[in-house]
Amino acid sequence: MENKKTAVLVVDMLNDFVTGALKCERGLRVVPRLAKLLDGARTNGVKVVYCNDAHVSGVDHELKLWGDHAIAGTKGAEIVPELAARTGDYVVPKRRYSGFFGTDLDMLLRELDIDTVIMTGLHTHMCVRHTSADAYCYGYNVVVASDATDSFTQEDYDGGIKYLKEVYGADVFTVDELCEKFKAGAR
Ligand code: ZN
Repeated sequence: MENKKTAVLVVDMLNDFVTGALKCERGLRVVPRLAKLLDGARTNGVKVVYCNDAHVSGVDHELKLWGDHAIAGTKGAEIVPELAARTGDYVVPKRRYSGFFGTDLDMLLRELDIDTVIMTGLHTHMCVRHTSADAYCYGYNVVVASDATDSFTQEDYDGGIKYLKEVYGADVFTVDELCEKFKAGAR
């Protein structure tokens, strides 16, 4: 893992997913961990890329299953304030589970010369999993920050992590371990 070739992907840490329409209690626990990881990343030259749901009301396929959430331009579609994007971060809107599907995420990562993505955010077994699937298929190394992602239940979280390890060969590290790696990589 080389700092300048690594990006932390922050999936759906939006008001609607943490405290709003699709509120996830466990998502709240992720916020301070992720804040620490993003801080470590920015300080040590690791890129931060947000993959944010930005749905079109009355149109997007996924809304039939989940109901309205993260509608583009609403408060619910904004990143939770504690994790707001900073100068030098990138924000990629999406309308499907995967951050790659129908977006310019792959083009962005290639132009930034990224070869490794660190997966974080919500939910481990859904949008994180689907984004990891495409990352893997496009040839990126997949790493998971185990305490900076979560799901509605422990079972969904455990199943998500297991799947990422088995199917995409994901390396799993804690936020503290990753912050150490960032520091070592910056030396
Ligand atoms: Zn959605």
